[in-house]
Amino acid sequence: MAFADKQLTCRDCGTIFVFTAGEQEFYANKGLMNQPSRCPACRSARKQSASSLEAQDGYVRYGNFASFGGKTPRQMHPAACAECGQMTEVPFVPRGERPVYCSTCYSKLKPSNERERQETAR
Ligand SMILES: [Zn+2]
Ligand SMILES: [Zn+2]
Repeated sequence: MAFADKQLTCRDCGTIFVFTAGEQEFYANKGLMNQPSRCPACRSARKQSASSLEAQDGYVRYGNFASFGGKTPRQMHPAACAECGQMTEVPFVPRGERPVYCSTCYSKLKPSNERERQETAR
């Protein structure tokens, strides 16, 4: 297949830009049959806005992963406080093996062994 430089008009800004023979060959090698409808400036602008329409290379798709910031947020599970019954969230799956306390009750119970005293009083 022979390629020749082509003049194309940008769909977005109307600029006439050259779709060079080299670019046409590059597109053909990537299996892209459509010629670019936007000038290089508009193409890179769209790429930076992470539009999915032109997501033909890895850059745009990377944007989706970048939103996680590289680390997974800790999964929190809703649970009822064993002390006051208030709903709270804990960083583990509550299975009933150990009591779940809200942060208020937890800080109340933690310093001393209040819990043992209450259990014996019951
Ligand atoms: Zn343009
Ligand atoms: Zn509580």
